[in-house]
Amino acid sequence: MPNTIQLERPCRDVVSFAIPTPFPVGDVNVYLLEGDRLTLIDTGPRTDEAWDVLISGFQAAGYRLSDLKQIVLTHFHEDHTGLAYRLRQETGAKVLAHPGTAVWLREEPWFVEWRNRFFRDLYARAGLLPTQIELIMTAYQALRTFGHPCEVDEVLADGAVLPSHPDWRVVYTPGHSQTQLSLYRAADQTMILADHLIAHISSNAFLEPSVRPDEERVKPLIQYRAELQKLKRLPIRLGLPGHGEPIFEHAALIDKRFESQERRGETIVELLAERERTALELALELFPKHQDQLPLVLSETIGHLDWLEAEGRITKTTRDGVDRFSA
Ligand SMILES: [Zn+2]
Ligand SMILES: [Zn+2]
Repeated sequence: MPNTIQLERPCRDVVSFAIPTPFPVGDVNVYLLEGDRLTLIDTGPRTDEAWDVLISGFQAAGYRLSDLKQIVLTHFHEDHTGLAYRLRQETGAKVLAHPGTAVWLREEPWFVEWRNRFFRDLYARAGLLPTQIELIMTAYQALRTFGHPCEVDEVLADGAVLPSHPDWRVVYTPGHSQTQLSLYRAADQTMILADHLIAHISSNAFLEPSVRPDEERVKPLIQYRAELQKLKRLPIRLGLPGHGEPIFEHAALIDKRFESQERRGETIVELLAERERTALELALELFPKHQDQLPLVLSETIGHLDWLEAEGRITKTTRDGVDRFSA
């Protein structure tokens, strides 16, 4: 049991604390919204350590676990949702999330089958060998153990008022995940951003299957860039992210993200002007130190390739089921 918990009160009616995760990203921030019904935003992963810290956080904030009435899940990733099932079981709190999160968390066999088919096909097109693909699929299964299937009781639509917290509105902010929701309070221009924008690292726009089988995949970096343009125009005095420190200058941070995407785009175009490459070859050249995190770097690489292709800066040809890019 941890002795001290670092509790923050970043703004009115919001208490936040960090929960440890076993992932490279480190701690995840969860938020308690005070009001008629105590609401928890995100839960931390399904580990005993995370559970203990969560309980300590409630205690430090002056609550018992039984005070919890609602859980909002910002997106389906395990570091944000892993304890939702246990919390719902032990407290009877309602779980609220994007409809896509409901599909991911239900983990019905048809979806698991479609999801696995989607990733196998994606990685084969990127140039991975069948043995490499199976290694990734096994690692992915292991990652899923930090989550637990969970029912979503109420789905949240873009623009909806958050139940029991009428000053907070739901904002659909896809890009990092197709299921990603943020919460905005106009009164003091506060936004709970989850993984939509993080100060110390750039959010990965993850490649993700649609929750409707066989629907063509979204091009997440293109989508994310459009969403960042929208976010930049929104008046935000305080941004509360899913990881790391609060954000005060969101527009400047977004410009930094655009600049680094541009730089990476230029590097890719230069490499592809030298000679044709697959997404895997590019990913290994762009991220030589992260070869143990292939899904992450492939997501980043393919996202940029989608974007550069849409801009007409590179071309794609498919041979033997593998996409090859040139400039
Ligand atoms: Zn995430
Ligand atoms: Zn996260």
